[in-house]
Amino acid sequence: MPELFVAGQWRSAAAGGTRDVVNPFDAQVFAVVDEAAAEDAEAAVLAARTAFDDGPWARTPVAERAALLDRVADLLQRDREEIARTETLDTGKTLAESRIDVDDVTAVFRYYAREGVVEVDRTVDVGRPEVHSRVVHHPVGVCTLIAPWNYPLLQISWKVAPALVAGNTVVLKPSEVTPLTTVHLVKLLEEAGAPPGVVNLVLGAGGAVGPALTSHPAVDLVSFTGGLATGRSIAKVAADTVKRVTVELGGKNPNIVFADVDLDVAVDTVLTGVFLHSGQVCSAGTRLIVEESIADDLVAGVVERARRIRFGNGLEEGVESGPLVSAQHREKVEGYVALGLEEGARLLTGGRRPDAPDLQRGFFLEPTVFDGCDRSMRIVQEETFGPILTVERFRTEEEAVFLGNDTTYGLAGAVQTLDVDRGERVAAALRHGTVWINDFGPYVPEAEWGGQRMSGNGRELGPAGLAEYRETKHVWRTTRPAAPGWFQG
Ligand code: NDP
Repeated sequence: MPELFVAGQWRSAAAGGTRDVVNPFDAQVFAVVDEAAAEDAEAAVLAARTAFDDGPWARTPVAERAALLDRVADLLQRDREEIARTETLDTGKTLAESRIDVDDVTAVFRYYAREGVVEVDRTVDVGRPEVHSRVVHHPVGVCTLIAPWNYPLLQISWKVAPALVAGNTVVLKPSEVTPLTTVHLVKLLEEAGAPPGVVNLVLGAGGAVGPALTSHPAVDLVSFTGGLATGRSIAKVAADTVKRVTVELGGKNPNIVFADVDLDVAVDTVLTGVFLHSGQVCSAGTRLIVEESIADDLVAGVVERARRIRFGNGLEEGVESGPLVSAQHREKVEGYVALGLEEGARLLTGGRRPDAPDLQRGFFLEPTVFDGCDRSMRIVQEETFGPILTVERFRTEEEAVFLGNDTTYGLAGAVQTLDVDRGERVAAALRHGTVWINDFGPYVPEAEWGGQRMSGNGRELGPAGLAEYRETKHVWRTTRPAAPGWFQG
């Protein structure tokens, strides 16, 4: 079955392009999908335009749009195991993580089915009884939704669910590396009853299909999650036609640990925060900032536990971590290991490919800990997007906060301390979109997610994640029309 979806039809690429999809565990091709070119992307944009302008969706009662989201949530749970397996084959992450992803995606659809029907229009008292003044909301129009490869289904769901419940039409563009669960999601949207043209799917390399999706005058909004360089270029391209643009970019996320913590809990929190999904998480806690008096003990504990992480095929029970997503990405991360050594950081563990014979074909890299780091190092400042932890030490709270904010990014950060007041003080001072106190990583659909500074603009999830997909209009109605009488001539 073809994998591009345009105007309610599954079709192949006009020029016949295809792409191999590779399992990062063994580097084997396990699927072949259609690969769009610019002409397919343009057809998808025009289909979404027609469906928005002439189709029923934007005028469908919001309760019916919300009901479609609920049906998708039911279908996601029906297909939970199949989708989770596909995500594991595509990304390399463990089946346990993929199942959590599917459940999180289900929760996002359920949340926006509820949130979408909450009334947000309001009346405004202008002080004149003959005037009815109200602020109403409309869908924005055609939305291009572009997602990265680390959480393919999850990231696209944060966009699709609010966009659809608000009455928009959409063109989805997953990463070329991990397209399969997005294809499955679009099938579920079709099965749930999305009218033709409301949901369109383009698979293809960002460089080839991106310009048509982000610069076309028929597109009203671009929502992008991915790297800083791509986000920057998309924002520039979209500026020519003054589109709405939301960019969710990378992070260099501090995890600040004070000496009063329970050491075992802190070790576990640091370990999970940085090495989950081999560090390929935008909010990964890759920058450990630890109070000097416990630093040696904490770091020794993290190193010891990191060496015991069980690698393997994400489909197998008991495997705790999979490979990196591609050979190309592993090389990029290995470049950061080399850079850390060059910059004088002390390698305590990892930094190399594992020796185990069954891991030789996959794109594995051992969890890596660099001690003796300081803020001048690129390895401390740049997003490595792999399993690399850097360690810096502090003596005072002011120093900890300074280092925690000492990044051009501002996606997420954490503080570990049993002193409640200090935890709140540090959380208030950190300039990051999400701050965890005595935890690292959790999020819920009800609370906004997004970056400050160079981690992006706009928000996903929560009410603000829905507001991104709504236009606001002020309607002023005078019940007693009268000549303004400003000009006397
Ligand atoms: P990229 O920026 O390389 O790609 C993201 C998406 O953009 C992919 O679908 C890609 O397609 C597409 N793309 C690439 N070039 C263009 C273009 N010119 N026009 C339109 N689309 C384009 O990021 P990665 O996929 O490597 O993802 C990793 C990054 O994502 C990290 O920096 C990470 O921090 C960030 N991220 C941020 C999150 C957040 O919530 N803030 C969440 C998750 C990840 P293709 O792959 O097919 O080339």
